[in-house]
Amino acid sequence: MKTKYDFEKRFRDQILLCSRCGFCQAVCPVYGSTLRPALNARGKMLLLKEVMDGKIDLGDELIETLFQCTTCASCHENCPSEVKVPEIIKQVRKDMVNIGSCHPAFKGMNEILQRHTNIYAEDEPEDFERERNKKAEYVYFIGCVGSYREDGATMAALDLLDRLKVDYTLIDEICCSGVLEDVGYQINEDLARKNIELISATGAKTVITGCPYCFRTFNNKPQYAELREKGIKVIHTVQLLKDMDLGVKSDKRVTYHDPCDLGRHCGIYEEPRQTIRKIAPDFVEMPHHHVDALCCGAGGGVRGAFPKNSIAMARRRLQDAEEPGAEVVLTECNSCVHNLSNAKLRKQKFKIYNITEFINELMDENSR
Ligand code: SF4
Ligand code: SF4
Repeated sequence: MKTKYDFEKRFRDQILLCSRCGFCQAVCPVYGSTLRPALNARGKMLLLKEVMDGKIDLGDELIETLFQCTTCASCHENCPSEVKVPEIIKQVRKDMVNIGSCHPAFKGMNEILQRHTNIYAEDEPEDFERERNKKAEYVYFIGCVGSYREDGATMAALDLLDRLKVDYTLIDEICCSGVLEDVGYQINEDLARKNIELISATGAKTVITGCPYCFRTFNNKPQYAELREKGIKVIHTVQLLKDMDLGVKSDKRVTYHDPCDLGRHCGIYEEPRQTIRKIAPDFVEMPHHHVDALCCGAGGGVRGAFPKNSIAMARRRLQDAEEPGAEVVLTECNSCVHNLSNAKLRKQKFKIYNITEFINELMDENSR
């Protein structure tokens, strides 16, 4: 039978593997915030089966369902049939873009990244009072959220790197554009090329990314293969910190939020916990942690396209953090910090930080 769409060519067998068991429902953040079964992985797989059977066609009426997915991979991790839901959703979005059906916010992201160097279409980034593009052992790559929305957290991360005597440089970085792959488009090769040139010119052998999504993009996408071919290693901040002697401690009760892009997508669970245990002996887990961590609701373009539900997802995560009585919620992702901070619970008793910002604050207190 002739197939109409690439998602069917690539994932027909995967979609048919879905047994409708519903295990994915309990873990889907979109279902959790909307309670609509059509929006969990099972609902999405059923719809796609109907498309493959010719009963319905892809089109605008499916945008709300198929574009409302943070690509958090909770469903995949909990699926007995191991259906690759996030990969299927990303391909379906590409097919929908090809036929002219796309959420306007996703379309907007692509248009912005064809004309601007960051996802917010801002003219000038914060300069962070540091020289850029110099020779150094490391490049610190901030990412768009850290550069334009969470600059306080970024300044703290840079102060911490200075205190730890890390020989790094910033570059005139531009968006890695990895997010375009999630929202139905392709990475902008011109942006990737510019980042590769700027990184290579510093002579650095390692890039430290503050953003888990940039970390995934640099390490996995073919547009950034040249970095790997040149032997330039890309690590995330939590991997740098884990072996460092930090010399500070907090007596506060601390918990940790696993960003989906570090945890489920890259298997990085223990490094951040090793660092946190060193600085905060009263470390507690939330009810949902490691592979079962709840998504903050920001990923897969959902924050821009479905802001109300994105905040509702973040609120569920904050309720999870409240459970063990934490005074501090740590993570190491500016996107998670941004969404969780915007969601703020009524009478919230804890503060949300990146690990780097929290350590830097402890060092500030020690030096007073
Ligand atoms: S857990 Fe997997 S097999 Fe079960 S309904 Fe969800 S996607 Fe289908
Ligand atoms: S990837 Fe996450 S948001 Fe998307 S369907 Fe699966 S569990 Fe739901």
